[in-house]
Parts: sequence; C-alpha cells; structure tokens
Amino acid sequence: MTERHTPRVVPLLDQRSAVLSTPTAAFAAASRIGATGLLSDQRGRPLRDLRISVTDRCNFRCNYCMPKEVFDKDHLYLPHSDLLSFEEITRLTKVFVAHGVQKIRLTGGEPLLRKNIERLIEQLATLRTVEGRALDLTLTTNGSLLARKARSLKAAGLQRVTVSLDGLDDAVFRSMNDVDFPVADVLAGIDAARVAGLGPIKINMVVKRGSNEHEILPMARHFRGSGIVLRFIEYMDVGASNGWRMNEVMPSSEVVQRIHAELPLLQLEPSRPGETAERWGYADASGRHDPQLGEIGVISSVTQAFCGDCNRARLSTEGKLYLCLFASQGYDLRALLRADASQADLESAIGHIWQARSDNYSESRGAQGADSAPAQRRVEMSYIGG
Ligand code: SAM
Ligand code: SF4
Ligand code: SF4
Repeated sequence: MTERHTPRVVPLLDQRSAVLSTPTAAFAAASRIGATGLLSDQRGRPLRDLRISVTDRCNFRCNYCMPKEVFDKDHLYLPHSDLLSFEEITRLTKVFVAHGVQKIRLTGGEPLLRKNIERLIEQLATLRTVEGRALDLTLTTNGSLLARKARSLKAAGLQRVTVSLDGLDDAVFRSMNDVDFPVADVLAGIDAARVAGLGPIKINMVVKRGSNEHEILPMARHFRGSGIVLRFIEYMDVGASNGWRMNEVMPSSEVVQRIHAELPLLQLEPSRPGETAERWGYADASGRHDPQLGEIGVISSVTQAFCGDCNRARLSTEGKLYLCLFASQGYDLRALLRADASQADLESAIGHIWQARSDNYSESRGAQGADSAPAQRRVEMSYIGG
C-alpha cells in the first residue's frame, strides 16, 4: 500500500446508536504522530493494555452484564459484516503494539463463540512488543466452551486464560448465569485449561450483594493452594441495562475481612504498575505469606478508583476505540481501515486519540458519591468487553 502525505479527514466518533446522540466529529491528520512506543495521555498515562472484544454475543445472561429482559430474542446483535475481520484486528493491534501495548486480552461477549478464534490467536501470537518480546496474550471467558477448546487455544499461541465464575454452588451459579448452565462444566473447563498449560489461570468472581456473597468463602477455600488466583470484583455501574445500585456493591474491604476472619491474609506489593487488583497473600501459622497457599486479588473499581494508572484501551467488536470502560463514545477505527488508511495514518490517528485522553470516570464518580448509575447512555460491557 502506498503512503499518503496529504492531510486526510476521517469521521471517527461512534455513530452506532441514535440514543448515543453523538455529535459528528472529524479527525484531521494534519500533524503526524508516529509510533515510538512512548505515547502518553493528558494525565501522563502510557498505552500498555489493549482489550479486544471479538463478539457481542454470549450464551450466558449474567444479570449484571446482559440481563435477560434486555438481551432477549428481539435484541439486535451486530451483523457479521460489521465485525472486524481477524486481519483487520491484527492490523490494528500491530499499530497499538507499535505505540507501546504489551498486553492483549481477547474478550466479548463470550470470545470462544467467535468462529475460528484460534486463527486470530495465531496471528496475534506472531507480534512482538517494541522491545522485541512476545505479547502477553490472554483471554477472558465464561468457561462454558473451555473444556472443548483449551488445547487448540494453547496450540494457537494463547498464553493464559481468566475464567469468570461467580459461585461454586450449582444453584447459585445457574441463577447467576441465568441460562441454567451447570457449574461442573466450567470447573471441567478450568481443569482442561490447567492441563493444557494455559496458566497462570485467574478466576474472576463478581460479588453482588444479595446474590452470591455467601459464595465468597467456599470459593476462597476451593482455590486456596491450587496455584489459581481468585479475584473478587466489585459489581460496577457499567453499561445502562443492569439497573446498578450502590447497595448491591460489596466493597472489597468487606470481602477481605470475611476471608481473613477464617483464612488469615496479608497484603502483598503490586507485581507491576497499573495493576488493577490489590493482592492479598494467604499467611502460614507464623503469619508470613505462604506462596504454596497462594493469593487472592480484589478489584475495587467502585470504592477505590485506579484511574491514575489506567493504561488500558478497548477495541469494540465493530472496531470502535474506547478510552474508558464508562465512555459513551468510541472512535471509529474500522472506518479508517476500510477507507484504505496506511500504517502511518493509523499510527497518527491512534496517537492523536490517546494523547487527547483525559478519562477518569471512577475517580469523579467517587468524588460525587453516586449511589446509582447516571442516566447518560453508556456502552455495554458485552460490547466493549471487560
Ligand atoms: N464472557 C466473558 C466472561 O464472562 O468472562 C468475557 C466478557 S465479560 C464482559 C468480562 C468480565 O466482565 C467478566 O469477568 C465479568 O464478570 C465482568 N463483568 C461484566 N459485567 C460486570 C459488572 N457490571 N461489574 C463488574 N464486572 C462485570
Ligand atoms: Fe456473558 Fe461474560 Fe457478560 Fe456473563 S459477564 S453475560 S458470560 S459476557
Ligand atoms: Fe480506566 Fe475509565 Fe476505569 Fe478510570 S474508570 S480506571 S479511566 S477504565
């Protein structure tokens, strides 16, 4: 493809939904930004982590994410032609990596529902960071198809998986996923991932007060000493369809207290900058951390904002770039791709977008003390991925 040197004007803001009532905006690539791996936003945050949603569909109906009443048989999913192809995803990922991304997480919807996802993983696994290292290539899944797919995912080049699991009790789990899916099948998927070498495995448990908080201790007991890191996530006011209320959020501090009362914990140092989870290690009889017993993580997205370190970008199923989980607008990179943009065009567009970023939703929500989600329409988690 030939390089273009004349300034281009490409509409970039999301026009997907009339309800979003996005103003038409234009992006002019008048001043070029090349990829140096050193991009920084308005708050001095680098771009290190890219989450790619590969489908907006899911076979579960977790009520905190895709409640049945909203995501029913009449819900309109994206037509296949609107989805980024694997080649398009890989092309964009190359640009993000040139700007400094080191970690890629495939998500959704349920990413294992995307046909031939292994082919995408094969392509992404060939990419190298600016420093020449392999990418940290991972995937978040509800685990329902993992028993079947763990080996082929590993063979394609996936390094590890995070499995979402909101309880061990079969009745609780079936009611959380709301499609009567048995917990035993997800546990079999986790075992298959372990056997295939897709580790270190992480488990995500969203704690929703009044629904599954009595599963905190059984989950902690089950995964303690297993080599698997269990992470408790505060129920977030993401999207617009889950009817979020503050009184359904169990603060991470309470989760830690509950576990600590039976299984003593001590706080560990973060393993890297920008880490979203606070780490707590299980203690031995002498009160020191016992690595054999392992650790848990708590992700306090509601009670303790971590925007200051947020180095994550999100690419939606149809190629919109979102700078924050709580954004209402995305930048249409697919339009650029399909308008035959060169590598330099893409680098410059993404560079401009990241440099202008100043998002800090959780910090400002904390400052306002909100107890219910604001009325403004926001994108759904299943559309941009977790
Ligand atoms: N379907 C896959 C899964 O469930 O792992 C991947 C997509 S899902 C949107 C990614 C993560 O977001 C899951 O761990 C899920 O529990 C979490 N999640 C979804 N809605 C949430 C909410 N309202 N608050 C906190 N976490 C949420
Ligand atoms: Fe599906 Fe994951 Fe959302 Fe549950 S959290 S509905 S499994 S996308
Ligand atoms: Fe990042 Fe937005 Fe979450 Fe803050 S609220 S940590 S900016 S995704």
